[in-house]
Amino acid sequence: MNEPNFSRRPDIGQKIAVSFEFFPPRTDDMETRLWDTVQRLEPLAPRFVSVTYGAGGSTRERTARTVNRILTGSKLTPAAHLTCVDATRGDIDTVIAEFAGMGVKRFVALRGDPAAGVGARYQPHPGGYANGAELVSALKAQGDFDISVSAYPEKHPESPDFATDIEMLKRKVDNGATRAITQFFFDNDLYERYVERARRAGIYIPIVPGVLPIHNFTQVANFSGRCGAHIPAWLGERFDGLQADPQTHALVAAAVAAEQVMDLVERGVSDFHFYTMNRADLVVAVCHMIGIRAHSAGVPASAAA
Ligand code: FAD
Repeated sequence: MNEPNFSRRPDIGQKIAVSFEFFPPRTDDMETRLWDTVQRLEPLAPRFVSVTYGAGGSTRERTARTVNRILTGSKLTPAAHLTCVDATRGDIDTVIAEFAGMGVKRFVALRGDPAAGVGARYQPHPGGYANGAELVSALKAQGDFDISVSAYPEKHPESPDFATDIEMLKRKVDNGATRAITQFFFDNDLYERYVERARRAGIYIPIVPGVLPIHNFTQVANFSGRCGAHIPAWLGERFDGLQADPQTHALVAAAVAAEQVMDLVERGVSDFHFYTMNRADLVVAVCHMIGIRAHSAGVPASAAA
């Protein structure tokens, strides 16, 4: 990645759009925190906000409740994540119909991880949808939904090679996906190379970078390997020694995420998806850097200068 240069601004007329990802809260305290976060992020006018779906449908009720609260209690447009894990086609079709009945028009369609955990061998349900591509088709069969799918700049850990990985993305696009959202990554060159590979394979939908502001470097370092995202040595050095110093950790995290996003803007990227971890501070700071602000959201970033 290039050296930081915070003077960069989006090009004149370059419109930046953002989306935010939440997970459904498990406790009342988490619910309160999520709702505070939603209220802080709402004035930034994201294109949509998405709510994740736990392995094997374990959060089915909570995902639905959270999506419904966003629909009824905010001006935000929710997207419901959906996975194929441990569910029959009939189960999933019912969940899709329930969301559609609620007024949901956007979905994030995923195969999902094995219920036994990331790294276990994935076994599709014998009567279920086998992967993200089949789920996209199932959604399209029920309505003209806006469908996001996953993409992996460092390839999915189960993909033997990039060709296989891109082939799966192509199937999802051919079946009706509107955009891809990437797994988080910290090396923008990898993202750029992946987009080039996809374009060469005839994939022209937006491939939106998924940005993970780092709230806890040790935790991110621990789970990133399982997600197929590598931690560059320079990133480890930035956070070295900050585990017991949360304030400095937060400042460094904001700088790191801003640096990554500003560099992507300079490379021509205009859409960003933030993995918020249900927290607003770092996301608000980074959005501010790219001209997405409460009073200027929705206008070209240059006009907010
Ligand atoms: P697919 O798109 O179906 O496949 C992904 C890749 O894996 C393909 O490139 C393919 O080459 C390879 N592959 C798939 N199946 C096989 C196989 N049987 N053998 C060999 N290779 C195979 N998980 C959740 O549980 N809930 C969520 O809400 C959620 N949200 C996510 C949002 C985003 C933006 C992303 C990037 C990931 C999300 N995940 C979520 C994680 C995701 O479920 C896992 O990464 C899962 O392992 C793959 O799901 P997928 O939809 O990407 O799979």
